[in-house]
Amino acid sequence: MKVSVQSLKNGLNFYEFDPEIAELDFEERNFMVKRVQVKSKVDRSEHNIVVTSEATASIESVCESCLKNYTDQFEDTYTILYTTEKEALEDDEMVRFLSTGTNHIDLTEGLRESILLALPMRFKCTEDCKGLCARCGANLNAEPCECKDAQADPRWEGLRKLLKEEVGDN
Ligand SMILES: [Zn+2]
Ligand SMILES: [Zn+2]
Repeated sequence: MKVSVQSLKNGLNFYEFDPEIAELDFEERNFMVKRVQVKSKVDRSEHNIVVTSEATASIESVCESCLKNYTDQFEDTYTILYTTEKEALEDDEMVRFLSTGTNHIDLTEGLRESILLALPMRFKCTEDCKGLCARCGANLNAEPCECKDAQADPRWEGLRKLLKEEVGDN
């Protein structure tokens, strides 16, 4: 969402909006971002405009362990500083130059990075997802499958040893 610099009053200005997800450009990834909502606080002073935004979103993905679709909530805060003071710029990604020619600032600036940084390293439906049985494909979160019982059955121990030795010989 773009706001005109001129319309900002000194001190705090508040905004709430639902950004267009297409503008965030998350296409062709292994997750889908839905229902993004942003609350921005824009603090204007003589040389600076500080935009602090709280974003929430739903992220739909597929669990890497059990292959189930699941939805997770995302919440993060990002801050962008617009400043007329060139010295403040350096190479901080969160600092933008505010020139006399800057008519608008975009409150979604920084949102995309914020979501990307908050994504998990691995998509998992729950911390302790048990995944699928490698043998029969059953979802072990729902119930233990027969294979597990068979493996634990001591009567199969001898057979498994034999199989192992056979493989070892080859
Ligand atoms: Zn899972
Ligand atoms: Zn199984």
